[in-house]
Amino acid sequence: ADAARIPALVVGSGYGGCVAALRLAEAGVDVHLVELGMAWDTPGTDGKIFANTTKPDYRSFWLRTRTKQPLSNFLGFPLDKDVPRHTGILDAEEFGGITVYQGRGVGGGSLVNGGMAVTPKRENFGSVLPTVNADEMYGVYYPRANAGLGVATIDPDWFETAECYQYARVGRKHAQRSGFPFLFVPDVYDWEYMKKEQAGTVPRSALAGEILYGNNAGKKSLQQTYLPRIKATGRVTISPLHRVTSMTPASGGGYTVVMEQLDTGGTVTATKSVTADKVFFAAGSVGTSKLLVMLKATGALPNLSNEVGKGWGDNGNVMCGRANHMWDATGALQSSIPTAGIDNWAAGGAFAEVAPLPTGIETYASFYLSITKNPHRATFSWNPSANRVDLDWQTAWKQPSIEMAKTIFDKINSKEGTIYRTDLFGAYKIWGDHLTYHPLGGAILGKATDNYGRLHGYPGLYVIDGALIPGNTSVNPFVTITALAERNIEKIVATDL
Ligand code: FAD
Repeated sequence: ADAARIPALVVGSGYGGCVAALRLAEAGVDVHLVELGMAWDTPGTDGKIFANTTKPDYRSFWLRTRTKQPLSNFLGFPLDKDVPRHTGILDAEEFGGITVYQGRGVGGGSLVNGGMAVTPKRENFGSVLPTVNADEMYGVYYPRANAGLGVATIDPDWFETAECYQYARVGRKHAQRSGFPFLFVPDVYDWEYMKKEQAGTVPRSALAGEILYGNNAGKKSLQQTYLPRIKATGRVTISPLHRVTSMTPASGGGYTVVMEQLDTGGTVTATKSVTADKVFFAAGSVGTSKLLVMLKATGALPNLSNEVGKGWGDNGNVMCGRANHMWDATGALQSSIPTAGIDNWAAGGAFAEVAPLPTGIETYASFYLSITKNPHRATFSWNPSANRVDLDWQTAWKQPSIEMAKTIFDKINSKEGTIYRTDLFGAYKIWGDHLTYHPLGGAILGKATDNYGRLHGYPGLYVIDGALIPGNTSVNPFVTITALAERNIEKIVATDL
């Protein structure tokens, strides 16, 4: 039988997918939004929707039987533990040379991320998205994205006194004593709520260590911003626990999309198909790249550009910790939401966030996530014998990132007379160089697609997520992903409907 026909299907419900669904629906188009992960709208066995970062459980990881925590060790003890296999919220997807962390659920990465909502400095934009008009982005689309996401900056007076930001004040002191510019990093967390958490008048979320496996209060993920607006249009059907697996051009136009429905153990319970006039790839940099590479290589969409799968970068992510002196205590109570940054991008290629170590005890440690100008780019390719898509990133390619991060932390260590922590990533390992939180690229704007995300070779197919961005945004990526999606969908709604 012929599959049901719909005007638009969106694959994935992160930033790109939510922007596409909202703007299409507002333009009067009925949309089917298909999401691999769960809805995350129902409390678990403890009455909470999301698990705590300090106590991973069945909700925490995507189809794993053992956790794979980004910080694998503490004081010499491995932290990972067995968990029941479940369609949990954080995917630690392993490729040969890198583990790529991603959110799984309606809301995508917004469910698990730190909410750090940073617009790149305008002087750096030319290297972030070289084919995009900066005046339009900074005049229209970055402001639209910041407003839509609810971005705000911490009250600087409160920052000076809040117990939960002692770690960030120590980070600032050390940065400034070494002559590095310090700045506040905006976030989508509700800062008024956090003040109440610190005052003890509301249930704690950021101050209870919630972050990597979701926040039960305070954080404005897409569940609090774009998704309610999407639902209010009445035009969007959302299907959680559905995985798009294939798509081919349909006779009579459009594309027949095949998807599998999963149960919470990850077992396929049904296979469905639907024909859509337009399909928007918003499965994230990795998800979109994997689909496109597979569809081209297996002959489902053979005319996709040879650029599909290329230009993937890790946003130069690298982590490290420093051991402070006893007089530089970082505090037993730490907000899980970072708010302080050290900018050495122009001089050293690194932008470092002062990150929390929400262990609940005094650690005398400063912890940092650096975003660096790593020049390496990897390629996704189809592996026919294994029936999967591989990524050729090499662990050694993180070395430039380490060198760039060292332009900040070697100097601070020498000024403070301190050393790196060697207990956070396994025995005597200083650098967290095995992972990224910020996958970008694989279907680069202006290469695999035209300058608005239209895939070459197939009218009606679009990319609208982080896969469009050529590997680095110089800061945390989701504001740029959202702003670019707003720009592209405006053009598509105006000219392609
Ligand atoms: P995503 O948000 O990844 O959404 C893609 C969605 O598609 C997912 O929900 C996925 O389940 C779904 N999907 C995948 N494959 C399929 C399929 N085949 N069928 C159906 N659905 C599919 N960025 C910042 O700017 N600031 C931060 O503080 C920050 N912190 C982070 C912390 C962590 C732990 C992580 C993991 C990420 C963090 N990020 C941060 C990165 C940010 O979350 C991502 O850049 C962003 O979510 C990417 O948006 P996207 O729309 O491209 O894709």
